[in-house]
Amino acid sequence: MAEEAFSQRTTTCGGLTKADAGKKVVLNGWVHRDRNHGALHFINLRDRYGITQVVVDDDASKELQETAAKLRMEFCIAVTGVVRLRPDTMVNLDMATGEVEVKAESIEILSKCLPLPFMIDGEAEPNEDLRLKYRFLDLRTQGMQERIKLRHEFIKAIREYFYRTDFYEIETPTLIKSTPEGARDFLVPSRFYPGKFFALPQSPQLYKQILMVGGFDKYFQIARCYRDEDARGDRQLEFTQLDMEMSFVKRDDVLELMEEMFNEVFMKVQNVQLPAHFRRITYHDSMNTYGNDKPDLRFGLEIHDLNDLATKSSFDMFKTTVENKGFVKGLCAPKTEGTNFSRKVIDALQDTAKIYGAKGLAWAKVGADNKLSGGVSKFFVGMEEELINEFDAKEGDLILMIAQEDWKKCCTSMGAVRSKLGKDLDLIKEGYEFCWIIDFPLFEFNEDENHWEAAHHMFSMPQAQYLDTLESDPGSVKGDLYDLVLNGYECASGSIRIHDVELQKKIFRICNIDDATAQEKFGFLLDAFKFGPPPHGGIAPGIDRMVMIMAQQTSIKEVIAFPKNTAACSPMDDSPSFVEQDQLEELHLKAIFPEKKSDK
Ligand code: ASP
Repeated sequence: MAEEAFSQRTTTCGGLTKADAGKKVVLNGWVHRDRNHGALHFINLRDRYGITQVVVDDDASKELQETAAKLRMEFCIAVTGVVRLRPDTMVNLDMATGEVEVKAESIEILSKCLPLPFMIDGEAEPNEDLRLKYRFLDLRTQGMQERIKLRHEFIKAIREYFYRTDFYEIETPTLIKSTPEGARDFLVPSRFYPGKFFALPQSPQLYKQILMVGGFDKYFQIARCYRDEDARGDRQLEFTQLDMEMSFVKRDDVLELMEEMFNEVFMKVQNVQLPAHFRRITYHDSMNTYGNDKPDLRFGLEIHDLNDLATKSSFDMFKTTVENKGFVKGLCAPKTEGTNFSRKVIDALQDTAKIYGAKGLAWAKVGADNKLSGGVSKFFVGMEEELINEFDAKEGDLILMIAQEDWKKCCTSMGAVRSKLGKDLDLIKEGYEFCWIIDFPLFEFNEDENHWEAAHHMFSMPQAQYLDTLESDPGSVKGDLYDLVLNGYECASGSIRIHDVELQKKIFRICNIDDATAQEKFGFLLDAFKFGPPPHGGIAPGIDRMVMIMAQQTSIKEVIAFPKNTAACSPMDDSPSFVEQDQLEELHLKAIFPEKKSDK
């Protein structure tokens, strides 16, 4: 087929400046805005690089005027013309090209555009499914253009760092063995082997460890991970990680390398100087002080341990909790401009605490002259000053307290109140607050299944001092694992790995996987560990989440070109979709449809 002739661009819509005045140019792009003032017709032409004003003057040929009159929003066109300076009164310094315009000599319509389902110029369309159905249009919006660019620059800077520091970029397979690793696997049926399946990787974890056994001591990859989880919150079925692993390292080597890498990347991409080292907080301290293991350090509102004060109070509920080896914790919400700690506000805070398991949320308002009023203040008569001093509280502040026998519930419910107050009182500073959370418990007890399971994954090394008590007291074992937290989001998890077959088997056993099952499911890893595995460790920061934070968004869909919607579908290509019967047969599969509720 003969190629369609069209005037190809000589420059982009973002590059023309005063220095180009007088030049003949060709621009290709989309009609962003079109204002026809009769004698003068202005067209804002847009491409990825910017917007240039094109003018069809009143002395333009009839043909040109007719073509210009046919233009509609988002038509794709080629403009040939001459660059000229805008009259002084028309200069727009908000636009990179705002000092010039292109006087059109000819316009070619390269393709037309149907009436738009939503506006591209302005605020994002609120109907998310509509945005995703017409993602190709949504991608043209300034916001999406900027975020996809940011994502590209972030990944590019990461690659540059790893190339420079001697890492190999190695791909691991996307068709792998299904292994019980936490989330549900996506399965891919094998056509050659009826009844057998590949799984899509939840992460390249085992393969990167085997690469270490293979001698590639510094590995990284921008890896796609797949987890068939229920559509909850801001999850996607597939997401992207920077996956990395190193041999012959200890924990601090991994942490320091990440600090150096993120320092370089944030400077390159956003011109932001991060601290050379990020704060390290133990899991235990983080829970105690911030009420979760992903603290938002952009604001204070630290949680205090009030057990001593509680025992001295006359509040029986507090006293009994402490006697029963429970916990009383509290924080002090500052009175900021415009705050009114009304009954309604306090009720809302109580509701939040209860969602996270608190029985109640006790409160007392700080008045003038070290006095407390309302709520549980009557139980602190005589020790008001002590409570106020504990928080260095000021008049108008609100002290909030939770008593709970279960430590974790006490921390998390107080943490939920802290997070709500951070937002509601507008306490969150701008900027980036990174921290490491270290010394996590290695195991968590799964109440539903009544056995221990790995808190992170089963390949993390227990800290040396717990090796003898692994089986007798799994609950107290701390692992050599770490999370990177940014602005209250968990952005990366990693660990020093086990590289000893017997220890690995022991961990499997504690997690209710017997030796035979371990061999069947993870035999390839255990076998590799019999052939001189090096000590190794790594980490995997989530790319989507980090770019989301950098782009000041609250959904990862805003930084993924083609995400699924909240119902885990893609409105654009209508996936998932039914397939032909033949295709199923070829794969030796039969679809079984769940009974409809009304059929029962
Ligand atoms: N594979 C782990 C994950 O996806 C990260 C790591 O331990 O490197 O959470």
